[in-house]
Amino acid sequence: MNRAVRILILGDGTAGLNVANKLSVLLGKDEAFITVVGSSSRHYYKGSGFLIPFGYCKPSESYKPLPFLLNPRVEHIRDEVTGIRVKDRTVITKKRTLNYDYLIIATGTSFAYDRIPGYLGEAKHFYDFEHSMELKGILNDFTGGTIVVGTADLKAPCPPAPFEFAVLLDQFLREKGIRGKTKIKYVYPAKNVFLIDKIAPVFEAKLKEIGVEIETEFQTDSIIQKNHEIHSTSGKSINYDLLIMVPPVKGQDFIAESGLDHTNNFAKVDKNTLNPEGHDEIFVIGDAADLPVPKAATSAIFAAEYVSKKIASNLGDIMLGSEYEGDVGCTLYFGDGEGMTVYFAYEKAISVQKPKRFDYLLKKMEADMYFSGIVRGMM
Ligand SMILES: Cc1cc2nc3c(=O)[nH]c(=O)nc-3n(C[C@H](O)[C@H](O)[C@H](O)COP(=O)(O)OP(=O)(O)OC[C@H]3O[C@@H](n4cnc5c(N)ncnc54)[C@H](O)[C@@H]3O)c2cc1C
Repeated sequence: MNRAVRILILGDGTAGLNVANKLSVLLGKDEAFITVVGSSSRHYYKGSGFLIPFGYCKPSESYKPLPFLLNPRVEHIRDEVTGIRVKDRTVITKKRTLNYDYLIIATGTSFAYDRIPGYLGEAKHFYDFEHSMELKGILNDFTGGTIVVGTADLKAPCPPAPFEFAVLLDQFLREKGIRGKTKIKYVYPAKNVFLIDKIAPVFEAKLKEIGVEIETEFQTDSIIQKNHEIHSTSGKSINYDLLIMVPPVKGQDFIAESGLDHTNNFAKVDKNTLNPEGHDEIFVIGDAADLPVPKAATSAIFAAEYVSKKIASNLGDIMLGSEYEGDVGCTLYFGDGEGMTVYFAYEKAISVQKPKRFDYLLKKMEADMYFSGIVRGMM
């Protein structure tokens, strides 16, 4: 009798949990032994970063214990990955060495604060639980002034986040009664207010409608803390009282150190198979991969769907329908009780739906859907 294959998943975030749960449904116990190695003590839903700073959700509703989200068949090891020996098919962690037949890398991004001198200790953000809580305290005490909202990195996860944060900030300040005493400036590195041409005019019209000042082609280069001033690579500068800036990101150091081809520690993979060159036994999914799709939970889930089916088809359990096609679908906050949904893929032109109330209600339910279905692999 053949032994069960060892599937090792690195990372216990959205992509890692989703793919582990999907595999545990597709493959029998005697076929595969599935292990997730991750450094999280609990699983945080990152979309809460749009709600916590404004007091629009209870912080305790934004995370769940990991055992609640993982199929009990999946082994979870809490440890930190430090390297991969691809030739030996082994992974090195702080405490052990693990073997694999299939390896799925899903270790997401880390913050690269040092790329912007002056960022640390000055700029605020909402990209993890701790910083969202810090911002909640700051916005609660804020009485008026200039708030700059922007991004330091166009490749950061959830590209529409600066826009979504700006429209929610406008709403929050109006509710607080201090919008008239506050200037909001939206600062963006690209030529337009958003990277995708079909969406940019929609965002621009909304920002103008709510009185947000726009500064495009502003790639932040450094922050002069004592002057409360951000500088751009082309020599422009902007003053602020409060700076809210999506931080620069990179992949995990061990990816580069393992000899895998990468850009900024994001593993280079074939865009249709998600394998690094020459490694059919390794897949990279979610934010950890260098792919021509935005880093988003929805992209990660489509990738997890493909990889779980690919492995199941290799083991003879199912017929694989198609290759990974780069699908992304996202519903975003549009302010004033409206949401907006966009969908596209490598070969599918972008579909942008008109902002509407229904999509806002869908978005508000996202945390519940995330914990009850999405991350458990049911979607
Ligand atoms: C504010 C905000 C709002 C967002 N909103 C949306 C949205 O509306 N729609 C959407 O589609 N996407 C959204 N996203 C993006 C989405 O959250 C990410 O794209 C998604 O979480 C990526 O999943 P991942 O598993 O690749 O990475 P992560 O979820 O970051 O998981 C990576 C995991 O790897 C672990 N890890 C890292 N390094 C190691 C190591 N060396 N050893 C062991 N474990 C390690 C980490 O602990 C973590 O658990 C949002 C993101 C933010 C920040």
